[in-house]
Amino acid sequence: MDYKLDFSILKTLTGLAGVSGREHDVRAYLKTLLAPYADEMHTDALGNLIVRKKGTSGKKMMLCAHMDEVGLMIHYVDDRGFARFTLVGGIDPRTLVAQRVRVQTRNGELLGVIGVKPAHITTEADRGRALGVKELFIDLGLPAEEAKKRVEAGDWAVLDREYAEFGDERISAKALDNRVGVFVLAELVRALKQPFYDVYAVFTVQEEVGLRGAQTAAYGIDADVALCLDTTGAADIPSVAPQDYITVLGAGAGITAIDARTITPLWLFEALKQICDQYNVLRQVRVAPRGGNDAGAVHLSKTGVPTCGLSIPTRNIHSNVEVISKRDTENVFRLACLAAQQGLGECAQD
Ligand SMILES: [Zn+2]
Repeated sequence: MDYKLDFSILKTLTGLAGVSGREHDVRAYLKTLLAPYADEMHTDALGNLIVRKKGTSGKKMMLCAHMDEVGLMIHYVDDRGFARFTLVGGIDPRTLVAQRVRVQTRNGELLGVIGVKPAHITTEADRGRALGVKELFIDLGLPAEEAKKRVEAGDWAVLDREYAEFGDERISAKALDNRVGVFVLAELVRALKQPFYDVYAVFTVQEEVGLRGAQTAAYGIDADVALCLDTTGAADIPSVAPQDYITVLGAGAGITAIDARTITPLWLFEALKQICDQYNVLRQVRVAPRGGNDAGAVHLSKTGVPTCGLSIPTRNIHSNVEVISKRDTENVFRLACLAAQQGLGECAQD
C-alpha cells in the first residue's frame, strides 16, 4: 500500500490537551478530520468515538487507540494562590519538577509552572532526594484572589512541550502515548478502501486509568478480531540491560506476544508475523512483563475476542519528552492496514 503518512496531523494531535475523562478536544478534532472518510460515526456514552468503514467479508475488526494522556487534576488552591494537584495515570513525580503545564479551566487555558526550591537554599541531601507529588505545586503567576477565582478543584492540566523532529527520523513531544496510535488509526481510516473486514476504528477514552472506554466499546461492537494500537516502553537506554529493553526504538512494529494483561492467541500472532515477512514490514516481538493496554479489556469482552496489541516503541514514556521513531510508526501503520485490507484468516482454537 502506497500511502504517505501526514505527520502534521500527529503534530496537531500532540498539541491538544486530553487527560483521561477529558478527551473532548481530541475527539472534536478527529470528528472533523474523519467525517469525509467514514461510512458511519458516533460517540458512545463514555465518550469513545467509533468510526466505521464498510468491508467486503461481513466480518468485524475492531481497531482501537486511546485518546487520553496522563496529566494532573487540581484539588486545592492555597491561600497564596499556588495550585496543588493529584496525578491522573502513571506519572513519575521526578519528571514533573521544573516543568511548564497548561491548566484547563472553565474559562480557558492558563500557563502554570511547577516550581522548585532553588539550589541556593537546598542542601546536598535535599538535592539527592526525589520529591513526592504532595510537595509539588503549580505557580499560576496570579495574585491569590485571582488564582482562586479562575482555578478550582476539578480543573486539570497537561504538560507543556512542543512537538519536535530530530535525529534519525525521531519525534519528541508530550502525549505521544497515545496520540501516535490515534494518528496511525486516523490515517488508516483515511487510507482504507473496501477492506476485507468491516472496520470499527475506536478512539477510546480513559485507557490510562484502567482501560475503561475499550471495555464498553468492545461490548457494543462484538468484533471477530481486534488490534489495539498503542505505545510501549523502549527501555533501550543506558543503565538498562539488553534483556530488559522490552522494545528497541527504530526496530519496527512491536507485535505483542504477552504483557501483564494479555497473551495473543497463537494463530493471530503467527498471522501478523507472516504478513510482516511477506510484505517487508519491519517487526519486533513485544514481551512485556508489566503494563498492558486496551487489548486487556477488549479480549475479555462477551465470549472473548482474539486480540493483539500492536506497539510503537517509545522512550521516556509518560514524560513530556517521549521519543518515537517515524519508521516504527510507518511499520505499525502498514501492518494494521494490511491486516484490515486482506484479512487474517481467523481460526477457532482447537
Ligand atoms: Zn498508552
